[in-house]
Amino acid sequence: MDTKQLDKQYIMNTYGRYDVALAGGKGCTAFDENGKKYLDVSSGIGVNSLGYCDDGWVEAVTHQAKTLQHVSNYFFHEQPSKLAEKLCNLTAFRKVCFSNSGAEANECAIKVARKYSFDKYGAGRNEIITLRDSFHGRTVTTLSATGQDNFHTYFFPFTEGFKYAEANNFESVKALANNKTCAVLIECVQGEGGVNILDKDFVQAVRKLCDEKDIILIVDEVQTGIGRTGKLFCYENFDITPDLITCAKGLGGGLPIGLCMCNKKLENVMQPSTHGSTFAANPIVCAGANYVIDTISDKDFLNEVNKKGAYLRDKLEKLDGVKSVRGLGLMIGIELEKNNAHDIAVKCVENGLLIITAKNLLRMLPPLNISYSEIDEAVEILNTTIQEDK
Ligand SMILES: *Cc1c(COP(=O)(O)O)cnc(C)c1O
Repeated sequence: MDTKQLDKQYIMNTYGRYDVALAGGKGCTAFDENGKKYLDVSSGIGVNSLGYCDDGWVEAVTHQAKTLQHVSNYFFHEQPSKLAEKLCNLTAFRKVCFSNSGAEANECAIKVARKYSFDKYGAGRNEIITLRDSFHGRTVTTLSATGQDNFHTYFFPFTEGFKYAEANNFESVKALANNKTCAVLIECVQGEGGVNILDKDFVQAVRKLCDEKDIILIVDEVQTGIGRTGKLFCYENFDITPDLITCAKGLGGGLPIGLCMCNKKLENVMQPSTHGSTFAANPIVCAGANYVIDTISDKDFLNEVNKKGAYLRDKLEKLDGVKSVRGLGLMIGIELEKNNAHDIAVKCVENGLLIITAKNLLRMLPPLNISYSEIDEAVEILNTTIQEDK
């Protein structure tokens, strides 16, 4: 049996896949098992932040694999220690807690917020406000946190204590914030929800409300973080500082890592035995993340992400058949006049462009080091595909 047949026979059917088996890649280019070439503007959902098999990243990861591949969290290791130091020095945060994915990073943030509240106010102050159209993960608790009704099916009972407010409607957040509320959890740009950029006024008003009521503001940076929106973290675009953030996707450059970071107020909330994960802070994964952070935290690199994002959005807006384009940095949603994003994505893949969707939009999350000529090529393939469909 070939790869696709094996997958269909032996892997649970949790994804509708494109009809392609990828086998290799370099930079923004991927190859399938037949050697066909694809330009990739999806980076494995914003994961391969430096593209496929970046030389420096490969060197960092293989060096660590040859030296020591895993230690339990009962021992110290320099890779997570240095990664945590870098992230704290680059931000206002004080401490890091490692995990292996975005959902787990959010689980950790939820635990930190609830324990802070429990320690200070006692039991019962445990509600968390999240937003409609948010996405926070696939565990039973992060499904609960996700403000989309279609995610709240089958797997009952879901974790209690989540309330959903309208994005960009401050009154709806205020109406839910009471003496049971311990946290507000938001994405500053909702990724899976359709690349919805929150209003700066709204985000700032939520920050102020949280300050007044000692409510923990958690920003989910799983998709928006690590340079994706032209800043190291997306909240910087909104001139606020959260109490807690989570990140994952682009952090490891293609290896599974997540983390949550907290400010001074929360730095001593977690104590031995309150949280843990066998694989978290894995040295190889952290070596990849250290390389990614060293590369993308550079001001010039982040400026280029902004410039390339503006260049790409501008080209997309001019395409015949494109209704609107939204995004920040290299996180981009494209609304089509025919509202047929999924069909166009499938045809783009046939035409050699790996692209994904978010709700009814096409979504681009290209490697952050994509070149201008690759951007031109991607727009050309998309344009050809849209025109062929007319
Ligand atoms: C992808 C995503 C998650 C879940 O991350 P996993 O690594 O798939 O668990 C959580 N929050 C946001 C905003 C995401 O985009």
